[in-house]
Amino acid sequence: MGYPENPILVLADIAADGAVLPSTAGLVGAAASVGAPVVLAIGASASAVEQLGGLGAQVVLTAEADAAALTVPVVDALQEAFRLVRPQAVLVSNSIAGRDAAGRLAVRERLALSVDAIGVSRDDEGIVAHHSVYGGGYLTDSAPTFGAPVITVRLGAVDARAEAVAAPAVEALEVTASGAAAATVGPVAAVEATSSRPDLRGAAKVVSGGRGLASKEKFVLVEQLADALGAAVGASRAAVDAGYIPQSHQVGQTGVSVSPQLYVALGISGAIQHRAGMQTSKTIVAINKDADAPIFDVADFGIVGDLFTVVPQVIALLEERKK
Ligand code: FAD
Repeated sequence: MGYPENPILVLADIAADGAVLPSTAGLVGAAASVGAPVVLAIGASASAVEQLGGLGAQVVLTAEADAAALTVPVVDALQEAFRLVRPQAVLVSNSIAGRDAAGRLAVRERLALSVDAIGVSRDDEGIVAHHSVYGGGYLTDSAPTFGAPVITVRLGAVDARAEAVAAPAVEALEVTASGAAAATVGPVAAVEATSSRPDLRGAAKVVSGGRGLASKEKFVLVEQLADALGAAVGASRAAVDAGYIPQSHQVGQTGVSVSPQLYVALGISGAIQHRAGMQTSKTIVAINKDADAPIFDVADFGIVGDLFTVVPQVIALLEERKK
């Protein structure tokens, strides 16, 4: 089949049950801002394929998922799609699985790899990726001197949304297994979800707590504000090290990088290693009793005060509004 002009290949994020994950919208939006999104959906359900049209996919390529093997089947399908479409760039989520697939595709096809982009644009020579580096201290661009770049895009960093495509062309890919060595998944035991809160990666709103929360018991205040806002819960490393919350919630250089619409920092000083993981958030609100805390340098709104006095009032106001 023919592909649209200026194709940008997107690897959709698909959940184990075949549903489209929310992070795919930003990837397709980024692709549409520089070309025509051709979306590879591996293991997607029929309704997911339809949903991808709604997100702006002009073409949806489908491939079967091999749930037992890690990464290699994804890279095989991505490589097949790349060879077929000859895109001007490949966009993949900057998740653990996404980075794994992107790196391998770049090696197999001898392409340049640009990681953790916060946006993409086009110049006379092709697609350019934009990055926030050194703890958000500098913005920098990357572009290959030849070939299409493989770009991993930070979750939540791209706001742009593509116009819906009513009836995207759908093509089932025939993927020849490369036979490359792959780790295989043994028995899978589903973990009961203990929280109805959104996942930190890709969340639209994040409330994070730091050492200022003073104890694990008091850290509950962070969770209460998060629930009032429908936000995910994050933390500074100091809060994690003190045992207030598991490490999977750590935001920063050695934790998760987030780029939500709203980031609320409670009792966090704003060390460079923390800012590295949240500085590209769209709106930053900080509550800290120290007016000189560096977090206020990056905050859009700040409250200088004792969080144990301020936060309950904020929660009460939010609850009041919901009535
Ligand atoms: P603190 O710096 O102790 O700040 C606590 C803040 O709470 C203070 O500003 C204080 O004024 C305020 N406060 C206290 N009580 C109250 C109150 N009642 N009301 C309001 N405000 C109050 N850190 C990360 O977060 N993420 C990382 O990924 C990370 N990676 C690192 C990697 C390396 C290699 C290194 C060396 C460090 C890393 N760090 C990281 C640690 C980082 O340098 C800081 O130590 C850490 O971020 C501090 O956490 P904090 O802001 O919670 O604590």
